[in-house]
Amino acid sequence: MIIDFHTHTFPDALAPRAIGGLADSGDMKNYSDGTVAGLRASMAIAGVDLAVAAPVVTKPQQTEGINRAALAINMSAGETGVMSLGGIHPDTENWRETLENLKRDGFAGIKLHPLFQGTAIDDPRYLRIIEKAAELNLIVLIHAGLDPTFPGVDLAGPDKLLNMLRAVPYEKIVLAHLGALGQWEEAEELYGRNVYIDTACALYPWRDKAGNLTHGGGYTSLTPEKFTSIVRLHGPERVLFGSDSPWTDEKESIDLIKASGLTDTELAAVLGGNAKRLLNL
Ligand SMILES: [Zn+2]
Repeated sequence: MIIDFHTHTFPDALAPRAIGGLADSGDMKNYSDGTVAGLRASMAIAGVDLAVAAPVVTKPQQTEGINRAALAINMSAGETGVMSLGGIHPDTENWRETLENLKRDGFAGIKLHPLFQGTAIDDPRYLRIIEKAAELNLIVLIHAGLDPTFPGVDLAGPDKLLNMLRAVPYEKIVLAHLGALGQWEEAEELYGRNVYIDTACALYPWRDKAGNLTHGGGYTSLTPEKFTSIVRLHGPERVLFGSDSPWTDEKESIDLIKASGLTDTELAAVLGGNAKRLLNL
């Protein structure tokens, strides 16, 4: 079973503008159109059984609308194989109630994105959300490291992530992008901790909007050797496959991991076994 723990979708009516805007601002290529249908087509090619969509609330007043759309995705997850996390913003006013509602509605977890939400991950507003999510047993997927849309901005770098983990230790935190996109050298202290990391973009060659190979993402992707050494340093039982689709091609992402040098047992855990356990499937 292959589970892609890190994908993004947008409602059909918004997808063209949202994907176009993001592709422009980050100068990055999109590999599908950003709709659930586009993701499903990609999953069929890549052999992905279940994809987890991670909505990013960029303005607090979007919280309710985004979670309504996410709930609709979850209602048809049985047929589509696409499920969604909930979204929340550090300035969401009724953050406590929002988390309780997500739990009541059956959501597996939430997504936080410090750069798009303009807030450092060790800010008290995030800490209270993570603490409450832990109380409710919700998974907390967090963008970690740099982001091509915000060159040079450090709101989720290794130091801040460590502060956060010390303040709210919680084993169902998932640090995206192998713990720190483009800051893997500085992330040494994160590895081995009792949290998950996902593989999104870590091995993937960055391509600009036109499809040319580039370092425009502000980082260089990892070599297969470095990738496997980080997976083993952290513990392969706490690494989740994530593609960040539509910002990478899912099949290519899987092929890169399969060719990285991990053993068959490690691959089975990373590509699906660990996510299956985390999601209680
Ligand atoms: Zn992402």
